Amino acid sequence: MAKIQQDRIVDLFMDLVKIDSETRKERQMADRLKVELEKLGLQVHEDNAGEKIGGSAGNVIGVLPGKGDGLTLLLCAHMDRVTPGEGIEPIIDNGIIKSKGETILASDDIAGVAAILEAIQVIKENNLNHGELKILFTIAEEGGLHGAKNVNPEEIRADYGICYDSGGPVGEIIVQGPAQYRFEATIKGKAAHAGVNPSAGINAIKVASLAINEMKLGQIDEETTANIGVIRGGQATNIVPDKVELLGEARSRTQNKLEAQVAHMKDITERAAEKYGAQAEVNTKLMYPAFSFKAEDSVIQLAQRAADSMGIPTKLVPSGGGSDANIINGYGIPTINLGIGMEKVHSVEEYIRIDDLVKAADYTVALIQTAVK
Ligand SMILES: [Zn+2]
Repeated sequence: MAKIQQDRIVDLFMDLVKIDSETRKERQMADRLKVELEKLGLQVHEDNAGEKIGGSAGNVIGVLPGKGDGLTLLLCAHMDRVTPGEGIEPIIDNGIIKSKGETILASDDIAGVAAILEAIQVIKENNLNHGELKILFTIAEEGGLHGAKNVNPEEIRADYGICYDSGGPVGEIIVQGPAQYRFEATIKGKAAHAGVNPSAGINAIKVASLAINEMKLGQIDEETTANIGVIRGGQATNIVPDKVELLGEARSRTQNKLEAQVAHMKDITERAAEKYGAQAEVNTKLMYPAFSFKAEDSVIQLAQRAADSMGIPTKLVPSGGGSDANIINGYGIPTINLGIGMEKVHSVEEYIRIDDLVKAADYTVALIQTAVK
């Protein structure tokens, strides 16, 4: 079997996490990854998604024509990272890479980026056959999957998509992702002086309290969750507040359960407003669709055969979170998300084992080889 070069992928990983690339500030990272892909012989293009969302760079897309016959694979990882993600100083400690402790590590999602690049390097230097490969490095995955939402689906058209963006060991395959709705409510009461004539007012905070109190939130059922995460309103203690905004979300792996939950949240809010003679304006928006695969689906079969060829066990797991895989599935490209060993992501304790980094690259080579006809 073709060999992953551990030192090379570790060096690349350490190098890339040091490049500042928080969400919407991916310029330097995009430039570097374009160079990396070009060095590997891919045709590289940066799209205009960044302009659409107010970011400094667009999605980077690379295409490597097939050598021999094979399925077209889309390999996807995101370039951006959460805060605090600037000035990262990675250190290696006993086979583990972590940050110095003041920042995240950004193995989410540089581990995915590095695994993809190392795998292509290995394919090229060993002169292995492969189907057409499309590489998508997205911007602004964190906080809304904005890069994936603004890519031209025709540019990434493939038989199957593989996203590298989940924790858990290599061999863990995310086969279900929830759909998510955004929930926004503005409650309009009536302002009045709180000391002089409070009864002339309608207290919007009170309306909001009633609504939140009566709303089913948290874990609704096995596959549905809901949350009100932001509440804004009020100006001063001597003013009956006339406006409150509520921001929340609901997720479910089953569309009709999600629709029912969102309808419930809307209904409760409107009824609370009605009770106090206030107005409620509720807006809900589908942020991304759900996806769901079974063991017998062909993309899962491919992933299974690749894992078998390496002798690693697989585990098919549902996810409670959304990822670029949701959006890409929505474009009609069957796409799974892979566990790549990153741990405690979105925290300053984030780390990854070097073994997992190497294994993720190895698994990518196996996937590419399994897709050869
Ligand atoms: Zn991620």
